[in-house]
Formats: sequence, structure tokens, C-alpha cells
Amino acid sequence: MSRKPFIAGNWKLNLSVEEGVALVRALAPAAAAGKVEVAVCPTALCVYAVAQAAAGSAIGVGGQNAYWEEKGAFTGEISASHLKAAGAKYVVLGHSERRQLFGETNETVNKRLKAVLAQGLVPILCIGETLAERDGGKLETVLKQQITGGLAGLSAEQLGTLVVAYEPVWAIGTGRTATTAQAQEAHAFVRGVLRSIVGELADKIRIQYGGSVKPDNAKELLSQPDVDGALVGGASLKAADFIAIIAAA
Ligand code: PEP
Repeated sequence: MSRKPFIAGNWKLNLSVEEGVALVRALAPAAAAGKVEVAVCPTALCVYAVAQAAAGSAIGVGGQNAYWEEKGAFTGEISASHLKAAGAKYVVLGHSERRQLFGETNETVNKRLKAVLAQGLVPILCIGETLAERDGGKLETVLKQQITGGLAGLSAEQLGTLVVAYEPVWAIGTGRTATTAQAQEAHAFVRGVLRSIVGELADKIRIQYGGSVKPDNAKELLSQPDVDGALVGGASLKAADFIAIIAAA
């Protein structure tokens, strides 16, 4: 089953509007060939300007989170419909920083995911274990809970666009990367869990690897059969590094 590689940059809480616009302009030629799907996920405040700057290019823009209600008395929240109106196509959900720092649970991720799908946006569902969970032999239990919890109540028909990002927490922003064998093993397991939920659609769902992906390790990681792309944090902030990762895909 051939799956189009998908490389997405998670800018986290970095880059001003001007910096984001300049970066997406610098990245545009690298995405033009169309062999790789490319997205950048700026802060919510920058989505509109970056999407405007990316218009006409092959780069899609994503949000980093979305609240489950569309509007109302929810001070400080951002809804999927607002992201969509600002030009977003994707939304990252359940990133480990949101789980660890902002109390995100599988239940709240599930509510957000439903809201994102209802707006016709593409969810990038982040899952991944901590080092203690891996060392404690809980890798598969944790991944299974995150997938089944995150996708609860959704059918294969509704999940046609789903993207999953496997991001071992111990590899995010640490410079420590999963070995290719660890990545492939986890991705194959994730695909198996997806198959038990959505059947054959599991073979079409892209599973990105995330965790200190850099130009010098991207090719090897992306060569694994179940690694269909990358969610890139730190290295997505530098045009040359992100372009090299796109080229590696
Ligand atoms: C991320 O934030 O999703 C990520 C993978 O970060 P980094 O590439 O910096 O490890």
C-alpha cells in the first residue's frame, strides 16, 4: 500500500507573524514537486497570515490544538471553525506537551477530534509513551489506550482523513531519537490497533514519526515501511533543515 509521505512542522510557541510568513515563503519551492505532503503548524495567532502567505503553494497550514465547542463563553479558546476560517487545513491534537502541561486526556482529545472532523479539517492525532512507561513494559498498553480513547465513537467513514503521529515523549526536543527498529515496531503496532478499529482503512492512514527528527536521521527513519512521514518540532524552525527533511522523504 503506497501512502503519500507527509511532513509537518510543529512550530509550537515560536516565530512571530513576520518570521512565520518569511519561513513559509522560503519553504514553498521545496514542496512544489508534490511528491510529499507538507504542512506547517504555527501558533493560532499566525495561522491566518501564514495561510495567506502559503496560498498558491503546496504547503498546508495547521493549528496546534482546537477546542470542542464552536463558540461561546470559553475565554482564551480557539475553535476548529475559527481555524478553518483562518485558512487551516490540519489540526495537531493530543500533543504530549498538551497532555503533560495542560491536562489533556484521551477523553478531551476525542472531543477535540470530533470537532475537527466536523469542520472537515484533518486531525493529526499525537500519541506516544514516556520513558517510564516504555521501561515499565507499558508501551503497547499506553499506545492502545491513546488510540482507542482518542478515536472513541468514530467510524471508519468519519476517519478517512486521519493522520496519526507516533511521538515517544522521551524523544521530543531531547535530541534523542528512537532507533529505526523502535520506530518501525511501534508504527506497526499502531497500524494493527488502527486495523482493529477501522479495518482496511488502516492501510491508508499515514503514521508520522516525531521526536528529534533532523536532516541526518530523517532518511533512515522514513525508509521504514510503516513510517509515512514526520512531525517535526525544532528542525522545522530552520528552512534549510526542514527542506532537507522534506527532501529525505
Ligand atoms: C514535536 O514537537 O512534535 C517534536 C517532535 O519536536 P522535536 O522534533 O523538536 O523533537
